[in-house]
Amino acid sequence: MRVLVIGAGLGGLSAAAHLVGDGHEVTVLERGSSPGGRAGIIEQDGFRLDTGPTVLTMPNLLADTFRAVDREMADYVTIDTVDPMYRAVFDDGSVLHVRHGRAAMTEEIREFANAREAGAFNEFCEWLTELYELEMPRFIEANYDSAFDLLKPWRAMLDLVRHGAFGALDSKVATFFEDERLRRVFSFQSMYAGLAPREALALYSVITYMDTVAGVFAPRGGMHAVATGLARAVTEAGAAIRYDTDVLRILRNGEGAVSGVDLGGDDRLPADAVVCNADLPVAYRTLLGGVEAPRVARRGRYSPSCLLWVAGVRGAPPVSAAVHNFHFGEDFDEAFKAVIKRGVRMPDPSTLVSIASIGDPTRAPEGCSTLYALEPMPNLDGKLDWSRNGARYVDDLKHRVGQLGYPVDDVVVERTFDPLDWESMGMERGTPFSLSHTFRQTGPFRPGNIDKRVPGLVFTGSSTLPGVGVPMVLISGKLAARRVDHYARTTSLLRL
Ligand SMILES: Cc1cc2nc3c(=O)[nH]c(=O)nc-3n(C[C@H](O)[C@H](O)[C@H](O)COP(=O)(O)OP(=O)(O)OC[C@H]3O[C@@H](n4cnc5c(N)ncnc54)[C@H](O)[C@@H]3O)c2cc1C
Repeated sequence: MRVLVIGAGLGGLSAAAHLVGDGHEVTVLERGSSPGGRAGIIEQDGFRLDTGPTVLTMPNLLADTFRAVDREMADYVTIDTVDPMYRAVFDDGSVLHVRHGRAAMTEEIREFANAREAGAFNEFCEWLTELYELEMPRFIEANYDSAFDLLKPWRAMLDLVRHGAFGALDSKVATFFEDERLRRVFSFQSMYAGLAPREALALYSVITYMDTVAGVFAPRGGMHAVATGLARAVTEAGAAIRYDTDVLRILRNGEGAVSGVDLGGDDRLPADAVVCNADLPVAYRTLLGGVEAPRVARRGRYSPSCLLWVAGVRGAPPVSAAVHNFHFGEDFDEAFKAVIKRGVRMPDPSTLVSIASIGDPTRAPEGCSTLYALEPMPNLDGKLDWSRNGARYVDDLKHRVGQLGYPVDDVVVERTFDPLDWESMGMERGTPFSLSHTFRQTGPFRPGNIDKRVPGLVFTGSSTLPGVGVPMVLISGKLAARRVDHYARTTSLLRL
């Protein structure tokens, strides 16, 4: 089949890899001048600054994506282990290094807390592993046609119930750990799914599995290197990628199947199927004129957004700093309520400060460092007036990063991204984290990757199945390719 992929984000590139591997004729159309989408980079004055994801988990999924085009990941991108994976700094001044590997982490917890908590960590890892093994093949790496599909693997569903996956995540974590700080470290990952640990179901602890058990990694040169590596692999395998190419409309045969895309002027490209990596609600509004987006995409709850400040600076980070440093604010529950429920800033913001140059000397010139500071913020459904107060929020963030001991006084390169920027980059409600993963917005309840009204159209990326984050969008590309294959088979049968 001739397949056009709109967008060379990691979701689009993964779809392209699986489609080429399955023998389709693939052209990727990307409006930007390089691949990666949110996995962006600023290269200036010898600095390489990430502008999107920095925490790589589950590199095996990335290796699978390269394997789809018969390539070895190591020939395209170098993946380094990050250890400690995080440095967690609590408001009482205590510090926990979240170590790579279970044995090292058990020791760390023994010293940080006590032997009981160290033992609990092992039990927690066992539970997380079982949960992951239940969920991944049957519920995450799965296409859904209806809610009943959830019940088909009924044994696994019963096992999930037995594992307490449908209780509250924070209560489940509390059954393992007594130390409040450990409870935080092993439950804050729900934030990646747009939820407070109190409201998330324990089944989302699978995200905690992905970093705590499976480990945190860093692509050498930044997450953008993953995108350029994948783009090279898919083109070598036969796909074409056209950059600086903005798709204006998805073309259809009347009100029926897709027939190609409109690039403006008289430039139209024909296709038998179209895979769309643009943010799904935005794609419905702008590319599919007249087809209303699924209700959940229009009326659903979107994840919080973030304010991001990235900088290349002269000077060294504090000796105690790790690659990823979580500085937790005082009242954890209140922080989540502020951002998610009330749509305002955290009263005492938790902040992530990442310094890629600590582990990767290719990222900054001699004597210099990279800084990446991220504060969770409400999305544009919240109450903040970014046009009026955005500059003040940025100053607050920079000031806080300085107070935490990072070198902020001699900035060489810098850039900020706020929810208005994310919105102008095509992200619904100004959040890069899409619809939050409440149960009613997950699996069969998330906007599907196909739409019966538009045969031949398939979505990939974080706004459809299975969800947000680099591992998930790599899987979404594979799921999209399966849909195209199925479509190819059914349309060829119809022609017989
Ligand atoms: C600040 C930040 C921090 C993050 N941290 C992490 C992290 O540490 N770990 C993690 O796993 N995830 C993280 N994420 C989330 C992760 O980056 C995303 O889930 C993932 O990269 C989304 O990929 P995608 O393919 O769905 O979308 P995108 O990357 O947005 O790709 C979509 C592509 O489509 C293109 N496009 C859109 N419309 C058109 C059109 N009409 N014509 C042509 N091209 C078009 C866009 O230009 C873009 O390249 C982070 C995201 C951000 C922004």
